[in-house]
Amino acid sequence: MSKKPGLTVLAGPTAVGKGTVSTYIRDNYPQVWLSVSATTRAPRPGEQDGVHYFFKSKEEFAELVESGEFLEWAVVHGQNTYGTLKSTVDRAIAEGRSVLLEIDLQGARQVKKAVPDAQFVFLAPPSWEEMVRRLVGRGTETPEEQQRRLETAKLELAAEPEFDHTVINDDVRRAADELVSLMGLAPNPR
Ligand code: 5GP
Repeated sequence: MSKKPGLTVLAGPTAVGKGTVSTYIRDNYPQVWLSVSATTRAPRPGEQDGVHYFFKSKEEFAELVESGEFLEWAVVHGQNTYGTLKSTVDRAIAEGRSVLLEIDLQGARQVKKAVPDAQFVFLAPPSWEEMVRRLVGRGTETPEEQQRRLETAKLELAAEPEFDHTVINDDVRRAADELVSLMGLAPNPR
């Protein structure tokens, strides 16, 4: 039986395509309220402040942590800091929206402690080889950064049993439709 929560957390290994699935959902499922995280990472080309992330300086991020503004936050890949702002998520849940967080595993574990009856969905790659291919193919990270992300990914793959459901990202649209169904919403007609 699926839980029917207001809050769904999507996590999974590096380069499994969480970002692609959430972009697809942002573009095709306006009924899903996709949380916009804060991050200390610099924007990539095309990324807009307030749409893809709230881009923060390290000092600004530290102040938000200090004042307890985050539902969860984590240093991802030992590099940049990312976090979910409590106030925005609380407001969306209070408005009855179906809220989706696309975050890393450390963050998912924090949300599980704070909101145990949220729904936790693990996005899995079709295979390890495919995941490596996707990470290298993206070409936005240095070889050292790719290696660091793969090490993280191995640990993350082992976390699958902690989740309520696994969705295999064999096809972005299919995976997004399955995720939306797990959120208790109707998938778009094909
Ligand atoms: P990217 O820098 O490629 O956009 O994201 C890197 C990683 O940060 C992804 O695994 C993504 O899931 C994770 N991430 C994005 N936002 C958050 C957040 O608010 N909290 C946590 N814990 N991880 C996040």
